[in-house]
Amino acid sequence: MKPTVPPGEQPAWWLRDADDGERSPSLRSDLDVDVAIVGGGFTGLWTALALRALPEPPRVALLESEFCGWGPSGRNGGFCHGYWSYLPTLRDLFGDEAALRLCAAGDQIIPGIRTFLAERGEDAWLREDGLLEVSTATSQDPEIDGQVAAAREVGHPEQAELRESPGISPRFRRGVFFRDGATVHPARLVRALRRAVLADGVEVYEGTRAQLRTDGTIAANGRTVRAKDVVVATNAAATEWRPVRGRLTVFGSYVVLTEPVPDLLRETGWTDGLGIYDARMFLHYFRTTNDGRVLMGSGSGPIGFGARIDERFTHDAPTAGRAEEGLRRLLPALADVKVEAAWGGPIDVSADHVPFIGTVPSTRIHYALGYSGHGVGPSWLAGRVLASLAAGADDEWTRLPLVERKVARVPREPVRRIGGGVIRAAILSLEEAEEHGRRGSPVAKAVAGIPRLLGMKLGTR
Ligand SMILES: Cc1cc2nc3c(=O)[nH]c(=O)nc-3n(C[C@H](O)[C@H](O)[C@H](O)COP(=O)(O)OP(=O)(O)OC[C@H]3O[C@@H](n4cnc5c(N)ncnc54)[C@H](O)[C@@H]3O)c2cc1C
Repeated sequence: MKPTVPPGEQPAWWLRDADDGERSPSLRSDLDVDVAIVGGGFTGLWTALALRALPEPPRVALLESEFCGWGPSGRNGGFCHGYWSYLPTLRDLFGDEAALRLCAAGDQIIPGIRTFLAERGEDAWLREDGLLEVSTATSQDPEIDGQVAAAREVGHPEQAELRESPGISPRFRRGVFFRDGATVHPARLVRALRRAVLADGVEVYEGTRAQLRTDGTIAANGRTVRAKDVVVATNAAATEWRPVRGRLTVFGSYVVLTEPVPDLLRETGWTDGLGIYDARMFLHYFRTTNDGRVLMGSGSGPIGFGARIDERFTHDAPTAGRAEEGLRRLLPALADVKVEAAWGGPIDVSADHVPFIGTVPSTRIHYALGYSGHGVGPSWLAGRVLASLAAGADDEWTRLPLVERKVARVPREPVRRIGGGVIRAAILSLEEAEEHGRRGSPVAKAVAGIPRLLGMKLGTR
């Protein structure tokens, strides 16, 4: 389907709504600081705040190539969660004890964001109404059941409640409700964070592209930044960075946004801030806004080549079309509403879809990557971990199982791009067929099963 609005023609609606237009000057002289952070999205900004809140706050500089919030942090779906919806994966990866420790740490994320907003007098449309994962085809039912069973098996059935009849749409077969979920206005949040770090004494340099040199210094705007500790918070741009090469793939994710339709939302009974996503591998994610619009996202965007962040991640009309088609099909009550905006961005996908945080061996360079399209909440946690790593601490944050974990490899280029592209097409056609009640072709089924055989996940779920 051709999207009503071609993506990439305008900045994300969130940014148009929330960008105050303030920009810090770019770097114009050499710099000596305690900690240099590269990247002004959620990860870099939460890290900067956590560092400045230490008993002896270090001198922190943040270098951002565009402006804070320009990246996916300012244009995502705004789904915010902890780790209960990852429980089945976490149990497989880390075992029950460590999985539960991570879930408990994740329980601090939404309260942490709530406290930040309250203390700073900011409003980022935080609505703590939970997240609902729904099945829209029989093939998606086992995912829902697996979530419910996993929470029950670890003694926390309240964290993943079965919803036999979720309501809102006749397309929803059943669902699982996660109470540790919220939605936010991502650009309001990221701009609030920018204001906060400036108020807390962080030196912010925007329009400043940074490059790590092998001697540990940073080149930026022809100047040199020396720092005792460096934090790499560049998301998808880090894909071919040598220390993590072979651990990340870049995919595109796109959203469409409707005109305000508060009356239709009232009719469907979807009047709260509940975030909903389906159990497809290339998931749809949808939520309302405070002014009664519906955002529908599709994680089915193109796969990148190496670290190239090009138009595939901003101008891919077919993916925006799939998001719009999902809107009309999954929410029939909205079949005729007007779509007013469409945009996309890159996501940094790890082989198991779980982020990894660490320090490059024999250096003081730290990183948090691999959010796999789920970094809004987790970046709060990563900010704590990165601040502790930079401070040389050994604490509850640095002992989380995300830290210094063994990360499965993704294939090298060009196999990644070519093989990933073929498998993506197979999964898309299969999921499409299943949603329309048809059986997928046996060839598509066989190809779609390849990542599982290799112990990898493809897509955004
Ligand atoms: C369309 C879309 C929808 C999404 N929806 C959701 C969602 O609903 N929920 C969820 O949890 N996650 C979602 N995500 C993912 C989420 O947005 C990211 O995981 C999160 O924003 C990552 O934050 P970050 O700070 O690590 O990266 P970013 O926000 O990408 O910030 C990195 C920054 O680094 C800067 N940078 C890069 N290279 C350099 C350099 N060399 N020098 C200086 N600066 C540099 C970039 O300009 C950028 O501003 C979505 C992503 C997309 C694209």
